[in-house]
Amino acid sequence: MSLSTSDRLLTILASLTKQKKHLSFSALKDSMSSYFDAIEDKRVQNKCDYSLHDVLMSAFSCMYFQDPSLNEFQKRIQEEQHKNNLQTLFGVKSIPQNTQLRDILDEIPSEELAPIFNDFFNRLRRHKHLEDYAILPNTLLCAIDGTQYHRSKDIHCEQCLHKEHKAGEITYSHAVLQGAIMHPDKKQVLPVMPEAIANTDGTDKQDCESKAAKRFIKNLRQAHPRQGFLIVGDGLMSHQPMIESFIDEGCHFLFVAKPGDHKYMFKSLEGFPELASYQFDDEKGCTHYYRWKNEVPLHGGENAIKVNFFEYILKNKDGKITYRNSWVTDIKMSRYNIVGMARAGRCRWKIENECFNTLKNQGYYITHNYGHGKKHLSYNMYLLTLLAFYFHQIFELTDGAYQACRKKLGSKKYMWEKFRNVIRFFIMDSWAMLMDFILSPDDYKVTLTKNR
Ligand SMILES: [Zn+2]
Repeated sequence: MSLSTSDRLLTILASLTKQKKHLSFSALKDSMSSYFDAIEDKRVQNKCDYSLHDVLMSAFSCMYFQDPSLNEFQKRIQEEQHKNNLQTLFGVKSIPQNTQLRDILDEIPSEELAPIFNDFFNRLRRHKHLEDYAILPNTLLCAIDGTQYHRSKDIHCEQCLHKEHKAGEITYSHAVLQGAIMHPDKKQVLPVMPEAIANTDGTDKQDCESKAAKRFIKNLRQAHPRQGFLIVGDGLMSHQPMIESFIDEGCHFLFVAKPGDHKYMFKSLEGFPELASYQFDDEKGCTHYYRWKNEVPLHGGENAIKVNFFEYILKNKDGKITYRNSWVTDIKMSRYNIVGMARAGRCRWKIENECFNTLKNQGYYITHNYGHGKKHLSYNMYLLTLLAFYFHQIFELTDGAYQACRKKLGSKKYMWEKFRNVIRFFIMDSWAMLMDFILSPDDYKVTLTKNR
């Protein structure tokens, strides 16, 4: 029996609603809540004023609203109105004082937050949002890069990396190897659980990006064993031991390979004057030029691994080179995939621009000093910020009301300013109500007057 058009529409609508339900604010928040609740609390129970859940959720809500003073404000609202927005929106029963919040967060092992990233990833996959991100069949592009989020000459903790300068001065820092799922045609980037570049083994030996990358890929594989990945990285990754560790984990790779770092390979390419090539002019008159060669030894050593090399050059209409880069990969290059692979290699900038730059400069206060702690505080704050960013990326991808707020208020900065202003004065029963209030404030005049 065939369905009528209206029945079909109803079915589609029902499935859309269902899809959104699993990725809505309350679904993601509830899931996160349950992971927070599951963390083993090692404190002496009768001495605890605040649950681990309330501590983590209060810290998260500051990141979510990009407002370091959110907790203090909501505490004041609580005194005046006997309820507050941390309670209604995030399920926080009791808002901790800032000092207690920092002390408790410092003790929570950061890996306890990893399952949340995996859960969000699986929700996106189950509801087919990752299909548009596939760069090859069942393969997602995961760009990786290192970034520093704390640097100081005096504030430091057990996990800080330290660098001694000639004059005896020491710089302390925290960094991560971050990975994010991305696609050349998609603006949103979806972070995965990063790997801390930190001194955790109690020795003086400094951790580094390469070691962190090896741990990162093992964890990513373990978290998503059936998912194919094309790992896209910078020139730091394109050496044999690193490439082998990615191959061992069953991942494809696409790493920048510069002539300065790979003298032997580039020299040997000169021996093949007729590399396969392809070029085309676009509508702006720019020329896109590609060259490639499969099965090239990476270096001159005895057991050199063979890689597939390609190069991309972009010239503007005056013939001036405006972009040039070269990569090595395990994927066999051909006329059919060369354009797509160059786009995949180029889209790595998004991890710098859409992820790190947003976290550092677009309101997330990732480098804001919330306090450094002695153990895990600094990294936990980074992870909670990253989770807030993940929520927002998911809404941009899947949430109609959120997208309507963005459209109505223009800039992201202004939209968050609006959200913050509203919750400073009014109690919102839910995140959906807050968005609805922004979209149709006139509908709320009567109710809010009654509430006040
Ligand atoms: Zn530190």
